Amino acid sequence: MMSSRNTATSQPDLESVMNDIDRVTLYRILSAFEEKGIIHKVFDLNGTANYALCTSNCDEGHHHDEHLHFNCTQCKNVYCLNDLQLPAINLPVGFVPQAFTLYATGLCPKCSKKAVKQ
Ligand SMILES: [Zn+2]
Ligand SMILES: [Zn+2]
Repeated sequence: MMSSRNTATSQPDLESVMNDIDRVTLYRILSAFEEKGIIHKVFDLNGTANYALCTSNCDEGHHHDEHLHFNCTQCKNVYCLNDLQLPAINLPVGFVPQAFTLYATGLCPKCSKKAVKQ
């Protein structure tokens, strides 16, 4: 069940984990991974870049795992809701989408439980 709720890791967190490499190198690695369909970028409520692993059906240059991202306003975690089927979005003629980014904000299961107890 956890696989459907993997959280994204923020860029500052990645930076602190990989303190041996500089920001520019990290940024290059992240964009290369993103291009190869290994990870995808999500912005959290503060506009900080977060990175999450893609599901297996992404390939180079094409992300096929568009899914809803849930920003928890309490713990600030960004969740990938991979299991949610997004409705087909038909753009007007002439618009060529490269990516769809869908966000929801609110309380994650962990935080909503706490909110009930209070
Ligand atoms: Zn939360
Ligand atoms: Zn995601």
